[in-house]
Amino acid sequence: MTEAVGSAAGDGLDVVVVGGGITGLTAALDLAEAGATVTVVDRRPLGGKIGFAEIDGLTIPTGPDAFLARRPEVADLAARLGLGDELVAPAASSAKLFRDGVLHPIPKGVLGIPSDLDALALSGLISPAGIERARLDLDLPADRPHTDESVGALVRRRLGDEILEWVVDPLLGGINAGDSDRLSVRAGVPQIDAMAQRDSSLLRASATMTSAATGGPVFLTPDGGLHRLLTRLVESLERLGVRFVHDHITGLRQTGTGWSVDVGAGEGLYSDRVVLTIPTPAAASVLDTTVGCTEVADRLRTIDYSSVALLLLDVSAIGVDVDDQMSGVLVPRGAGLTVTAVSFADHKWPWLASPERHLLRVSIGRRGRDEWMALDDDTLLDLVIDDLSAVFEAAVHVNRSVVTRWMSALPQYDVDHHDTVRAIDEGLRDRPGLVVTGAWRDGLGLPACVAAGQHAALTALTQNDTR
Ligand SMILES: Cc1cc2nc3c(=O)[nH]c(=O)nc-3n(C[C@H](O)[C@H](O)[C@H](O)COP(=O)(O)OP(=O)(O)OC[C@H]3O[C@@H](n4cnc5c(N)ncnc54)[C@H](O)[C@@H]3O)c2cc1C
Repeated sequence: MTEAVGSAAGDGLDVVVVGGGITGLTAALDLAEAGATVTVVDRRPLGGKIGFAEIDGLTIPTGPDAFLARRPEVADLAARLGLGDELVAPAASSAKLFRDGVLHPIPKGVLGIPSDLDALALSGLISPAGIERARLDLDLPADRPHTDESVGALVRRRLGDEILEWVVDPLLGGINAGDSDRLSVRAGVPQIDAMAQRDSSLLRASATMTSAATGGPVFLTPDGGLHRLLTRLVESLERLGVRFVHDHITGLRQTGTGWSVDVGAGEGLYSDRVVLTIPTPAAASVLDTTVGCTEVADRLRTIDYSSVALLLLDVSAIGVDVDDQMSGVLVPRGAGLTVTAVSFADHKWPWLASPERHLLRVSIGRRGRDEWMALDDDTLLDLVIDDLSAVFEAAVHVNRSVVTRWMSALPQYDVDHHDTVRAIDEGLRDRPGLVVTGAWRDGLGLPACVAAGQHAALTALTQNDTR
C-alpha cells in the first residue's frame, strides 16, 4: 500500500476501477489495502496488454516480457507480492541492428546516443561521413530551445540524420512503435532530456552517464515469466475481497454523493470514487457522451496510438548458427522491411530454451502503418518469413505461429505532451471523485504504469470527501 496514507484511509469508501491492465490492478491493490471496497471492471482478460499465449504447455508473453530495472516500481510491487527474490535478468543481452544486409552490435550508450564514437566508427554501422557529422556535436554551441522539442529535432541537430535514423529511432521504435520526429523529448524520453540538460554535447553526456552506470541488469522479470506477477497480483486482489465485473463500461454519471457507473447492458455500480485506467479513445468517449467533459475528451483524443502485431514463432531451423547470446534484432525503417524487431525468447529466458527449436517474438508496427494490422495471419506470416530470411541470410522454417494484434496499443507522446496532460487534469478539477490515468499519462512502460496506478489510488483516497 502507498506509504503516504494510512491502512484505514479507505475504510467505508467504495471505488470502481475501470480497466484491469497493470495500471488499474495496481490502483485496486493500493485502494483495497487501504480498506476501500473495490470493484474492477474490464470486459477482457485481466492484465490488459500483459497478455500470453500457450505453445507446447509453455506460457509465452504476447505483450511485455520484462520491465526496466532502473525504476523501482515493478520490483517493489513484485516484492510486495512475494516475488522479490525471484526476479531474473535475461540470459542473453546482445541485441543487433540490421543495416545493408549486416547485423551490427547496438552501440554502447544511452538509448542510442553513442558513448564512444570511435568504437561506433569501427563497427561499420554508420558511414564515415555520418561519424564525422556526429563528432561536430562536441563543439557545437549550446542550442537547446526553452520549449519542448522532438527527439528527432534534437538528435538530428546535434548528431546528424544518420545516428537518428539508424540508431536512435529504431531503439525507441522498439519500445513505442513511434516516430522520433514527433516524440516529445521531455515526456517521451526523459533520460535523453536529462542528458541534454546536463551537457550541450549529447556524446559527452552519454559517455558520462554510461561510465557512471552501476552495471546492474537493465531488465528483470519473475523467474518463469511475467505471468507470475499478474497471477500473484490477481490472487492478492481476490484475497482482499476485490470484486471483478467482466464487462465494459458504457456510461458514467455524477450523482449527488458520488458516481454511477453503467456497465454493459445496464447494471449500475454506485461508488464514491471512479478511477478510469482505459486507453484514451475509450475514456474520451465515456467522458464526452455521459459526463459532459467535452474539452477533456477532445484533449484525450489528441493522443495518438500505434498498433502492433506480435507473432510468436516456433522455429525449428534458421539456416545459420545464431549465437546463443543474441537477444534480438532491431530493424530501422530505412531497411525497408515490415518487421520492426525480433526477440529470441528462448535465448533470453531459460525456461523457454530448447535444443530443438527457437522461440521468436517478432513485432510489426510503426506509427501511421495500421494497414499492416488488416493483413490476415497467413499474409503477415509470409511477410515475416521473408524478412527473417533477409535478416539472417538463411531460410527460416516455422513450425507454429500465434499472431496477436494489439490495436491502438501504444500511446504516442508528442511534443508538448505535458501540456496536454496538464490541460486534462485542469479540466477534471470540478469532477471530484473522478481520476483519469493510464499508460498515456507519464510513461507507457510497466514501471510508469504501476506508478500511475499508485498515484491514482492515492488521489482517490485523499480527495475531498464527497460522501
Ligand atoms: C506488444 C507490446 C510489448 C510491450 N513490451 C513491453 C515491455 O517489454 N516492457 C514494458 O515495460 N512495457 C511493454 N509494453 C507496454 C506495456 O505493456 C503497456 O503500456 C501497459 O501494460 C499498459 O497498461 P495499462 O493498464 O495502462 O493499459 P492496458 O493494459 O491497455 O489496460 C487497459 C484495460 O482497459 C480495458 N478497457 C478498455 N475499454 C474499456 C471499457 N469501456 N470498459 C472496461 N474496460 C475497458 C481493456 O480491456 C484493458 O484491459 C508493451 C506493450 C505492447 C503492446
